[in-house]
Amino acid sequence: MKIKGLRQVSPFVPGEQPQDQKLIKLNTNENPYPPSPKVKKALKEFDVDQLKYYSPVEQDELRQAIADHLGVENDMIIIGSGSDEVLSMSFLAFFNNPQAILFPDLTYGFYKTLANLYGIPYHEIPLEDDFTLSNQGYLQENGGIVLVNPNAPTGLGKPLSEIKAILKANPQVMVIVDEAYINFGGQTALPLLKDYPNLFIIRTFSKDASLAGLRVGYGIGHPQIIDLMKAIKDSVNPYNLDSIAEVLAKATVEDWTYYEKTIAAICQTREWFKQELEKMDYTVIPSFTNFLLVKPQGIAASDLYQHLKDHHIYTRYFADAIRIKDYLRISIGSQSDMETVVKVLQALKK
Ligand SMILES: *Cc1c(COP(=O)(O)O)cnc(C)c1O
Repeated sequence: MKIKGLRQVSPFVPGEQPQDQKLIKLNTNENPYPPSPKVKKALKEFDVDQLKYYSPVEQDELRQAIADHLGVENDMIIIGSGSDEVLSMSFLAFFNNPQAILFPDLTYGFYKTLANLYGIPYHEIPLEDDFTLSNQGYLQENGGIVLVNPNAPTGLGKPLSEIKAILKANPQVMVIVDEAYINFGGQTALPLLKDYPNLFIIRTFSKDASLAGLRVGYGIGHPQIIDLMKAIKDSVNPYNLDSIAEVLAKATVEDWTYYEKTIAAICQTREWFKQELEKMDYTVIPSFTNFLLVKPQGIAASDLYQHLKDHHIYTRYFADAIRIKDYLRISIGSQSDMETVVKVLQALKK
């Protein structure tokens, strides 16, 4: 088209959302369990007439509920419509300098998308051959750092001491630690917030809280950093959280004991599934998340992806990521879902 000023964009490619009713959906790390009954009750009781008003711009009630849940002050919390929005706002807020930001070569694909969109220079630091993340690459001069801990799509976690060392070595730039999967077994960086004002932690309700469709995430940081984030929010979308989402997310954190049970069930299934795969000589990367990165035995990963899909089982194959072209990422579903997957894989071996 001959129109001036149109931006060239290469968007993030999310996992498929197929309509197949029989499917077992293990491709986007959603939670197989439903949200808490208290969330359902809160939705039933929600007064629809209230929707004629704009949603609460300060988001005080949800921020307070999250602050109480985490044991931090409410002026350390910013809410987003999904953590992807918090990420987007934080890239805008933090990486306004000429040096390249750093993130691993194998990580959440959205970071590269955002850096490209906002014209932020970046370096992708290769993970080690075993996919562990060494601090070495993060000691060079940079414009900021973005890590997921535990990392996606590998599932590997980094100990708190190593996150601390990265913060210590980079006091002049912001370090984002995306904790999307933290409750499945990682070590949270929350205790470091009091000593490191350059730390910004991002969390989501999409994975551990079974609310991917509601779109709620949040950031935790120093009050001054949160003030900046609020200024960004109020510049791009002041009413970014809808009124229903605020009420349901609040009900979620207030009933966290329910989620502790579903999270424990997922972790238990994950370890069972890992053992079953290892019995079939698959290589399985140890995971502190609700997914496994798996290298099949006796069949190419891309063929296995298609074979599972033919059996209504959706997994994730990253065709563009050369380093993991032999791997599939499989989200952990319910125990019975994973038993079905194991049966399909066993049949393939015979
Ligand atoms: C799923 C995921 C997100 C996005 O979460 P939403 O809150 O659903 O936008 C962010 N970061 C990582 C690492 C994720 O895996």
